[in-house]
Amino acid sequence: MIFNSTTPKVNKKLENILIIGNGGRENSLGWAIQKNKLIKKIYLSPGNAGSEKIKKCIKIDLDITYKKDLINKLKSLDIDLVVIGPEIPLAEGLGDYLRKNNFDVFGPNQDGARLEYSKSWAKEFMKNANIPTAKFWKVRSFQEAKKVIDNSKESLVVKADGLASGKGVFIPESKNECLQATQTIFNGKFGKSGEIVVLEEKIQGPEISIFVLCDGEKYVLLPTAQDHKRLNEKDEGPNTGGMGAYSPAPLATQNLLTRIINEIIQPTIDELRRKKIDYRGVIYFGLMITNSGPKVIEYNCRFGDPECQTIMPLLDSNFVNLLQNCAMGNLTGNEEIVFTNKVSGCVIATSKGYPHEYKTGFPIKIGKIDSTDCQIFDSGTRFSDNGELLTDGGRVLSIVCQDENFDLVFEKAYKTLKEINFDGIYYRKDIGHQVRRNFSEEN
Ligand code: AMP
Repeated sequence: MIFNSTTPKVNKKLENILIIGNGGRENSLGWAIQKNKLIKKIYLSPGNAGSEKIKKCIKIDLDITYKKDLINKLKSLDIDLVVIGPEIPLAEGLGDYLRKNNFDVFGPNQDGARLEYSKSWAKEFMKNANIPTAKFWKVRSFQEAKKVIDNSKESLVVKADGLASGKGVFIPESKNECLQATQTIFNGKFGKSGEIVVLEEKIQGPEISIFVLCDGEKYVLLPTAQDHKRLNEKDEGPNTGGMGAYSPAPLATQNLLTRIINEIIQPTIDELRRKKIDYRGVIYFGLMITNSGPKVIEYNCRFGDPECQTIMPLLDSNFVNLLQNCAMGNLTGNEEIVFTNKVSGCVIATSKGYPHEYKTGFPIKIGKIDSTDCQIFDSGTRFSDNGELLTDGGRVLSIVCQDENFDLVFEKAYKTLKEINFDGIYYRKDIGHQVRRNFSEEN
């Protein structure tokens, strides 16, 4: 791993930042950005009850749909860089609009966001560029899907084409379940996002997350991560937005990373350029390491949550310069990110019932916490009228710790969680089990 520091060149004023979004991801971005001495104010819109706990951060409610007002407001706030957190505003073209109005934006235009908002488009993109991924069939009706499913000797995975907050992927155990999942999507469960279904060969292997900061041509790799998508211990239960993560992922050896760069990252960037897509933002590569090598499961056009919360504490204060240089098309491609020589882990505390139905509005009590190398990023919280901290989402808090090894990291995270309480609090006790040497002793 590389630990040398190179300071990216700064060509332009960088004092006031706007981050769009309201989750743990955006709070952790604010936390990483405030470390830089140049930064004066960080606006988070809409943010949440935890946003103003972070130095220099100001919660603000901007209406991103009234675009003309938005531009005037950003001018009056003297914003130097806009960082767009979630996929929906990116897919709706917020990046395009801000760029047309001369703002520097970290986050792709609508054409680049397509990597995430259309799975069938992304699969065709990979096929054209010879990027390793599971075999796939794009279907537009249940009858068409049934033919593929009936003729298939292999198990298939069923995916709604469009954005579905991580809920549009089904991993059926039988042909019958596969047909049912397809029917559910075509019956309109995901609205327009389910007008096309992607059927995919089911592949196997451990998964890793790779984050690449791209300026349209050059790129920088962030530390790798592994997340836990399933709700329950032993990686069982329904898929969620993410129950925890750790970084860096020891699975990603230098040899494997070299292969990933040559077979996946560089061909992706080359294909974007071939399609004249000027991609300025983060490309998330969700990879499966199969027996025949790394394959792309999905692309995202934004930071993953909770991987973002996990990775941010490993970066130094130059991170915001990298974001600005991506936005301006100014990366050198030789930047070497400074990681701390620590590792990081995150455990998510959720509301009872998540990812299905859950109630919100429960008071959150936080006892005495040792905040050395330990951050609590609010994911779904709000204040009551009298200023009490309340739950306000499925994922409520992200508890993130760093230390010399993963045993110490998760010891600290779970000790911190003992000090946190709200009605129905739930979290997995086995986050990072793959990298915790003392894991079996504890359980
Ligand atoms: P996605 O939202 O596309 O990342 O899919 C969610 C999860 O479903 C992934 O993290 C994988 O665990 C699983 N998955 C998606 N596609 C496949 C596939 N082709 N084969 C096996 N598992 C998959």
